[in-house]
Amino acid sequence: MRRSASGLPLWVPLALMTGAGTLVLLIRMGRGDESLWGLAAVILCAVGGLITHDMAWRRLRQAERDLAAAADQTRLAEAETEEVRMALSSFTEAIDLMVLVVSPDGEVMVANDQAQRRFGGSLVGAPLLSVTFSQELNRMVAGAAQEGRKLGAELQLSHPQAWHASVAVWPEPPGNERILVALQDVSSERRLERVRRDFVANVSHEFRTPMTSIRTSAEALLDGGMDRPTEEKFLGGIIREIDRLSQISGDLLTLSSVEGAVVQREPINLAAQVQEAVRGLTPSAEAKGLELAASIPESLEVWGRPNLLSQVAVNLIQNAIAYTQEGSVRVGLEEQDGWAVLTVSDTGIGISAENATRIFERFYRVDRGRSRATGGTGLGLSIVKHVVEAHGGRIELKSRLQQGSTFTVHLPTAEPEA
Ligand code: ADP
Repeated sequence: MRRSASGLPLWVPLALMTGAGTLVLLIRMGRGDESLWGLAAVILCAVGGLITHDMAWRRLRQAERDLAAAADQTRLAEAETEEVRMALSSFTEAIDLMVLVVSPDGEVMVANDQAQRRFGGSLVGAPLLSVTFSQELNRMVAGAAQEGRKLGAELQLSHPQAWHASVAVWPEPPGNERILVALQDVSSERRLERVRRDFVANVSHEFRTPMTSIRTSAEALLDGGMDRPTEEKFLGGIIREIDRLSQISGDLLTLSSVEGAVVQREPINLAAQVQEAVRGLTPSAEAKGLELAASIPESLEVWGRPNLLSQVAVNLIQNAIAYTQEGSVRVGLEEQDGWAVLTVSDTGIGISAENATRIFERFYRVDRGRSRATGGTGLGLSIVKHVVEAHGGRIELKSRLQQGSTFTVHLPTAEPEA
């Protein structure tokens, strides 16, 4: 408000002065000075005008204050909306949820960052079908709009690559004009389920073969009428199959103890473990006429579990012997820049590039019959890989068909962090 020098509203001194002037005029008019009536009216109007002007001025200032307060309120509301948007965005980020808002005519109106990242391109304004390439999702959206209720399903989407989505679609109240679409990628869960199913099927299959063989032999023995050497042959077969069953169950137990685990480690002399494995397998190499050569230092310390690392060396050397018909198997161990490097090379049948990516899978065998004939379970390399990884190491394979293979294991020599 406009103010006088004394700090009072301007209209107050003006009104006082004008009032005083009017009083003087009235007194003079009362004495018969009629010529001043007009002047008095002018002064009264001026006073009225001033007062009206001041009131209008006050109202204007009040309106300005109201406007400023409204602007503050709007800023506050905007900040709150932004906060809610950010909270929603980090929530959907945390649970990895893609959210799309679709208009009644099927166009994307809003897409959150996750949806943007998944589908790419400019989503807003695009038809939903050209974003997801899924007729099924479009049908769900139409269904939700028509029925006015939430619909859920799991869909196999093909864009931008094949993936499984758990989808929820629901109309936004009131009026159900817009449809909200929420998608979550459940591909890894489905993949895990498939691996688990395959694993159970593989285990039952692996058990069924020796059990069938045991049953057949037992039935033949039950029928009787065999001479002693034939009986012994059947009984020997039963014992071999039982050994095989316990080998599979032992391997499965080892595998489940190291898969995805970080094992408790202690300082051990890896060189002694590898030396021991070579010594133990020398007879089987000799039986096949293979040279088994080792270049291993006296001592090389790593942090690990002795029985597990010993199994790594045994499995690799055993395989090298099993899959080599002639030539040699070479075992090397040395330290390189904080790593213990174990190499097992052979001059055997080799592994094709296509199979090289799969032989570390449980029960995967290039030649099932050959593996069975060598007493393999198809779990050896899978155990090796998981043991090495549980020790913070890695395994690599270089191989050429009919020329041989080299498996290289790197294990850290340093004490693992707590
Ligand atoms: P298995 O018990 O059958 O030997 P592994 O898991 O140890 O199972 O090996 C998986 C498959 O990898 C084997 O069946 C074999 O086909 C292949 N393989 C492993 N080591 C060698 C090797 N040194 N040379 C050629 N093939 C190998």
